[in-house]
Amino acid sequence: MNPITHVGYDSRRKDGIMKVKMILPALTEAKSPFFRPIKYSLFPPLGLATLAAYLPQGDEIIIQDEHVEMLNLDDAPDLVVIQVYITSARRAYEIADHYRGRGVFVALGGLHVTSLPAEAAQHADVIFLGPGEDTWPQFLDDFRNGRSAPCYQSTHRTLLNLPPIRRDLIKRHLYLVPNSIVVSRGCPHKCDFCYKEAFFQGGKGFYTQTVDDALTEIERLPGKHLYFLDDHLFGNVPFASALFDGMKGMGRLWQAAGTVQSVLRPGLLEKAVACGLRSLFVGFETLNPENLRAQQKRQNLNRDYSAAIRRLHDLGVMVNGSFVFGMDDDDETVFTRTVEWAINQGIETATFHILTPYPGTALYARIAEQGRLLHQEWDLYDTRHTVFKPAQMTAEALERGYWQAYQDFYRWGSIWRGARNKPDWYGRIRHATYAGGWKKFEPLWDIVIRTKKVGHSRPFLENVLSGFGKLG
Ligand code: SF4
Repeated sequence: MNPITHVGYDSRRKDGIMKVKMILPALTEAKSPFFRPIKYSLFPPLGLATLAAYLPQGDEIIIQDEHVEMLNLDDAPDLVVIQVYITSARRAYEIADHYRGRGVFVALGGLHVTSLPAEAAQHADVIFLGPGEDTWPQFLDDFRNGRSAPCYQSTHRTLLNLPPIRRDLIKRHLYLVPNSIVVSRGCPHKCDFCYKEAFFQGGKGFYTQTVDDALTEIERLPGKHLYFLDDHLFGNVPFASALFDGMKGMGRLWQAAGTVQSVLRPGLLEKAVACGLRSLFVGFETLNPENLRAQQKRQNLNRDYSAAIRRLHDLGVMVNGSFVFGMDDDDETVFTRTVEWAINQGIETATFHILTPYPGTALYARIAEQGRLLHQEWDLYDTRHTVFKPAQMTAEALERGYWQAYQDFYRWGSIWRGARNKPDWYGRIRHATYAGGWKKFEPLWDIVIRTKKVGHSRPFLENVLSGFGKLG
């Protein structure tokens, strides 16, 4: 790191109070005056609240999330911190340029900054590469002393001694799931298409909090419902096992993400259900082993997907299946085959994606080398647009098939067919309510978001979830 002298925070100021503004910019669709999908009002900006915890209580900190509120850009804080994702990069740079034009010191960090540091550096006074547990406090020291570096690269990865997340800065009422929590970073696997790969280069790619710290954080959260946003909550078996033991009796209902492999592992899933797991996001990605091999998703190879779903359903856990279209072995039959399979398995909700080569991933390097990238308009790298030439269909066919898959999976006929897998009427109605609740009532969600009543819908979510679970 090469220290530079910067203008910005004046450490000679008598009050010693620093004004810090933290911003999560939104992609255009999320602030549309016409329609706002509920997915943008689910989770608060936990990463920014985590960084805020390193600042002294006396500092004036504001967190603004453009997905749920209008940004006030008419101020001049000492420091602006912006979290940048690929789809919101253009907007993030716009905001950064605006503040720099006002003489405000701007820091950029996040996945996109780590993937493309040279691009981000053009819009920032300082950039952060990788997670910030080591570099952020170091930067704050440097900044207060009037000497910070232009770039901080994370190397020492640990979640030991994290200060308590500044959840008081989160506007809870604007989110359906304000109780989101992350107790680990990264994932033990390395799939070629995974966006997190570039972020963790240069250090550990998977690490957890201590079980005690994770339990303490859980206890700080009011209400019943939790959503673990960890990439792979089950990735460290001893940790997950001890965490679930510790959560038993807390009366929580929770959702998380896990792999097929972890679902099939004897014992761990039962512990998770006993302490409140009610819905799991599972990355099936593709039903084709050739595709799995090509993407290095080896942990899914030779796993019985149907057995994993049966196991989850037998324990009363809803399944949100994740599927990716457009891998090299996919032709135009992939959409119908995948949707039919998911319906027949009784999966409650499905998330479909168009394969997207994110910069910094092995997939991106391969596709770029093969000359198959169509463009670098990052706004469109949103897994809903085709940004590369697929091997066995046209780019248009891939997009058409993707939208058709959503329509086919979420039509009422399909929802009822999927619900028929449940052994009794109670289970079938709950399945239909949950699946229909997400997609069929999107216009209703839009009204709820606009009237800032998202938080009022939380008891409904908890009620549906509490009906599931066989061991709780
Ligand atoms: S299992 Fe999921 S989180 Fe882990 S590397 Fe693969 S895609 Fe990424």
